Amino acid sequence: MNKENYILEAENSLLKTYKRYEIILDKGDGVYLYDTDGKQYLDFASGIAVFALGYNNQEYNHALKNQVDKLLHTSNYYYNLPAIEAAKKFTKASGMDRVFFTNSGTEAIEGAIKLAKKYAYNKDGSAGHEIISMNNSFHGRSLGALSVTGNPEYQKAFKPMIEGVKFAEMNDLESVKSLVCEKTCAIILEPVQGEGGIYPADKEFLQGVKSICDENDILLIFDEIQCGMGRTGSMFAYQDYGVMPDILTSAKALGCGVPVGAFAANEKTASAMVPGDHGTTYGGNPFVCAAVSKVFDLFESDKILENVSEITPYLENELDKLIEQYDLIETRRGKGLMQGIVFSVPVGDIVLEAQKQGLIIITAGKNVIRLVPPLVITKQHVDEMIVKFKSSIDSVVNTNNKH
Ligand SMILES: *Cc1c(COP(=O)(O)O)cnc(C)c1O
Repeated sequence: MNKENYILEAENSLLKTYKRYEIILDKGDGVYLYDTDGKQYLDFASGIAVFALGYNNQEYNHALKNQVDKLLHTSNYYYNLPAIEAAKKFTKASGMDRVFFTNSGTEAIEGAIKLAKKYAYNKDGSAGHEIISMNNSFHGRSLGALSVTGNPEYQKAFKPMIEGVKFAEMNDLESVKSLVCEKTCAIILEPVQGEGGIYPADKEFLQGVKSICDENDILLIFDEIQCGMGRTGSMFAYQDYGVMPDILTSAKALGCGVPVGAFAANEKTASAMVPGDHGTTYGGNPFVCAAVSKVFDLFESDKILENVSEITPYLENELDKLIEQYDLIETRRGKGLMQGIVFSVPVGDIVLEAQKQGLIIITAGKNVIRLVPPLVITKQHVDEMIVKFKSSIDSVVNTNNKH
């Protein structure tokens, strides 16, 4: 069957929740992807900030293959060694005391919300506690996570959302303060907003939010599903800011390709949950945990954080040089290998043209190109990206001028 027929078949049988690009990806190697026609793409998207280690890492592949032959799944009625290893490594890297493994990011958020509510319930013996989230945030698509997602468009058809969620403005401490009341149990935010357009939090803002939380015994939840796992240069973004949350969520690069997420907390918070409060059938199974465990090993042995710190100034500098050449680029926002290039026009055509030229980039909102490459990129990859990105912009601008 040829490509067009495969795509037709997909469109006939899959739920129409995505406008997919007409590319069928087939394999990956390092920071390159290949489609079914054998065309090569430099990948600056990592499957949405997932493949931090790059594709086809042999040590990672072997760890998974070994686990396939041993045991894939146990349920959480029993212990399994990969989960014990993964939990030990996660808590050490994150500074949290206890972790719960989930199957996705949105489920990690569900767990974080439940944990915060249970903590507050234990304190005053009543339910109905409130959560403060941020406008423009993204926390997932399940109903609890959608309820704390600051995007009315995503919510409107699915109301009612869970009750008691209020939205403040990122980097506006007064807007947070004005929403705090005796029912507030948690404040949730992304230290660097991802889907919303790559907006990093200010350090003073996070410090201020932390003080509000400390003063009122409110739990601070950092959603590091996208900005965590080395992307900003530290293992978790909160470590760059020096502001520690009570609850931390992770997913995306945590498994580097296997579906896994996590919510973790300090002891004070985590101890609120007891048997019966939460559960999962698949979550933390030996297969995904073998991946998580190997990911943490490889972050160390392959010096991933060092690479992010080394490449970031180079990438930022090259991007700034590019931005200066174009009036239609307004600014750059970001932290580490999570960068948003903000255009004054929609960027959909540029993404399509880049694909033609063998570069995979994604958007974060209509006008923002999001760069979230594998964390193993080198300066040569940055150079190659800049050449292709520039020529994609030129090509789209020239086409538009002709019309
Ligand atoms: C992707 C993402 C989620 C949702 O994760 P899924 O695995 O898609 O459910 C939640 N929060 C943030 C910050 C994300 O980037």
